[in-house]
Amino acid sequence: MHYNLAQLLKEPTGSTRDYEVDESFTGPEDGSDRAQGWVKVIRTHHGVLVRAKLDLRVKLSCSRCISQFEYGSELTMEEECFATVDPETGRKVDPPEEADGVAHLDAQHGLDMSEFVRQYAITEVPIKPLCRDKCLGLCTECGANLNEEKCKCEASSIDPRWESLAELLTESLE
Ligand SMILES: [Zn+2]
Ligand SMILES: [Zn+2]
Repeated sequence: MHYNLAQLLKEPTGSTRDYEVDESFTGPEDGSDRAQGWVKVIRTHHGVLVRAKLDLRVKLSCSRCISQFEYGSELTMEEECFATVDPETGRKVDPPEEADGVAHLDAQHGLDMSEFVRQYAITEVPIKPLCRDKCLGLCTECGANLNEEKCKCEASSIDPRWESLAELLTESLE
């Protein structure tokens, strides 16, 4: 997802480039996450306007059962990126003042979309991801994944409905 926009920057304001995206990128948990969709780049006065719509498939580990699952998210962006070098003269240009801290093209007029996508994926994924709404997690006794198997630990513990009764009984016995 790295695009060289040197040629586009020499064209008049309003000129465009379209890119189809079907690539892997490095998401929040290393791995090979996938982005599919499109990127449109429009020449503006100071640089380019980047519009994108991407379906992201990010691999995450469930915070309860630690199994890996795929998390889907849609990225829509519209952001102006400023040129740091004048495409005609090759001289460094200072981006406009309001552009402080926003995206820039690199010195070769390259646009690195994978970095945007990565940043987005990191902020977008839940802090405590769950593989499913009602993930049952792991058994605290034997570590079995309770989504996949029913371990035997349960049988030995007291049914919570009887717990208060059991307490009463032990109290009265004392
Ligand atoms: Zn889970
Ligand atoms: Zn168990």
